[in-house]
Amino acid sequence: MAELVDVVCHTCRIVLPLLDSPVGREAWWKFLDEHAYHQVELMWEHSEAQERIDIDYIEVGSDIRSDPSFAEYAGDWPGRPLALHPRPTARAVAEIVERAFAAMDADTWQAAPADAVAAERIMQHMDFAPPPGELVDDAAVLARLAAVQAALKQLRQASGEPVGEHLRTFLNDVLRALPTAADLPPDELRAESGPLASPRLWDTERALRLIQHLVAARIALP
Ligand SMILES: [Zn+2]
Repeated sequence: MAELVDVVCHTCRIVLPLLDSPVGREAWWKFLDEHAYHQVELMWEHSEAQERIDIDYIEVGSDIRSDPSFAEYAGDWPGRPLALHPRPTARAVAEIVERAFAAMDADTWQAAPADAVAAERIMQHMDFAPPPGELVDDAAVLARLAAVQAALKQLRQASGEPVGEHLRTFLNDVLRALPTAADLPPDELRAESGPLASPRLWDTERALRLIQHLVAARIALP
């Protein structure tokens, strides 16, 4: 039952560990059926492709609450239509986040004293881990939109503070990739939602989650 190989669809951003068990094989057949004509790759532990996997990728059977179990993935996973919907905003933000991580790893990222303070405040408004299968009503859509707007406001505010040049550039880049408040009209989002969340609301939440991950892991004080 050792888990040696993962298969990944880069088109849909989903990873399936290959398991030699009945449910593992069912999941594999489902994956073939669903992604055979997409950009699919096999990955070993040290494959270069591992570096392309960021936290926006959904991983079947992971311990992240929003990811499906093997049984859910092989069967009627309620979040499937939303999870496999393209996420253009999250992808654009993922590239910016990746560049920031790379600069930090290469020690070319220069932090300023104000960065951690700004990061702390941003983190108070960032708690995005939306499960794609969550059923939403109008009130839930509006509540999630309000959380998104609050996070966007914090990011914008932080970009105007005396943070370091690298953090400011990062914030300006992600703000350009993210929708503005005007791009997310409540009435349209409500109309697009039901029973699952509006795809662009979910895309924006996934993008914010990538930023949240970088800020929490590298910029905020431990
Ligand atoms: Zn796919």
